[in-house]
Amino acid sequence: MQTITILGATGSIGCNTLDVIARHPDRYRVFAITANTQAQALIQQAQKFAPRYAVLTDANAYEEAKTLAVQANLDTEILYGTEALNAVASDQAVDAVMAAIVGAAGLLPTMAAVRAGKRVLLANKEALVMTGELFINAAKHHNAQIIPIDSEHNAIFQALPHDYVYGETHQKGIAKLLLTGSGGPFLRTPLEDFANLTPDQACAHPNWDMGRKISVDSATMMNKGLEFIEARWLFGVEADDIEVVLHPQSTIHSMVQYIDGSVIAQLGQPDMRTPIAYGLAYPERIDAGVSHLDFSQLADFTFTKPCMKRYPNLALAIAACKAGQAATTQLNAANEIAVEAFLAEQIRFTDIAKVNEQALNQLEPITVSSIQQVLEIDKSARVVAKQIIQAQMNG
Ligand code: NAD
Ligand code: MG
Repeated sequence: MQTITILGATGSIGCNTLDVIARHPDRYRVFAITANTQAQALIQQAQKFAPRYAVLTDANAYEEAKTLAVQANLDTEILYGTEALNAVASDQAVDAVMAAIVGAAGLLPTMAAVRAGKRVLLANKEALVMTGELFINAAKHHNAQIIPIDSEHNAIFQALPHDYVYGETHQKGIAKLLLTGSGGPFLRTPLEDFANLTPDQACAHPNWDMGRKISVDSATMMNKGLEFIEARWLFGVEADDIEVVLHPQSTIHSMVQYIDGSVIAQLGQPDMRTPIAYGLAYPERIDAGVSHLDFSQLADFTFTKPCMKRYPNLALAIAACKAGQAATTQLNAANEIAVEAFLAEQIRFTDIAKVNEQALNQLEPITVSSIQQVLEIDKSARVVAKQIIQAQMNG
């Protein structure tokens, strides 16, 4: 029996995780679930999974959840705040933590799980992008096992040699990690229409059903850029060892190319329950509720190179990855602010990359040696990005 905490339980990844867990009540017990504002959804989950704790980080939602819990006669204890997140992520009773909070807000609880030496099922890519080597070193130091849940990295994890040692790419005969991406909803949209694209259009992904932030990132391909940085750290490879390949069907979830010419790919439905189930059961395999691929029904498989004029955010992320840790922390922070402003209809779709680029140009490339410093860099990058957006809205 494995005891699991789910950070960000009410989100797209969180709900999919609970869906897989519900299929295996003999294998998994839920210790804690967390949400930001969605009190009602969290309480419904608590009624179904009877966790010991349910945590809310929004004060109003916490009050609402307490009332609902009394009405429902729940045994689950309702907790409030970021300290409580850290506590349920690191509690002695917990075996594995699903890190599925979106954005920088997930960093500290994810780090708490890492420092407590948990199995960390990492969906929250921003946490790793922000901290890179610090995160990886903490995992090594505290003996935490990081299993990538992001479908591309989960695919690569599955396609790497079983005895792969962190960073030993060339010794193991690996030529390249091939990171696939669908190109998002605007793969074929004329470039001259980009300025007028709306949040709802950006969030309508052709293959994946995801939260709004990652959906916008997929439309700008900042998501692939963050994943590029994520791959660099997860597998200990250089930027030159990673190549982005557009594959609009999203059936191949990523590949490893070897020096003898072999390519090993992981394929499946575009359904996050597959990597989630893999992470939960590793090294075993369990039913994920996902239908099997029917090769007689699969249409064309196509592949192209991404056009950087269409996806300037991807180019920015690859450049930041090569520039170093401060740049990736700054880019991630600026992007969170820019995406928020786009979703609030304060800036245009094409402004997201402009804000990110201007913020990177204005910020200093300092060396980063602690999580505290990461938080400070993140904070100043947010201030700069907000100023740029304000200036743009005024002008
Ligand atoms: P989502 O927006 O659907 O859910 C986010 C969850 O985080 C919710 O439970 C929400 O309550 C919680 N949350 C939001 N802000 C918070 C805050 N300030 N403090 C505490 N909790 C907060 O997001 P998602 O699509 O499930 O994505 C979650 C993470 O997984 C992201 O980092 C995303 O990049 C990554 N990911 C998602 C998918 C996907 O298919 N959805 C695929 C790969 C990776
Ligand atoms: Mg992904």
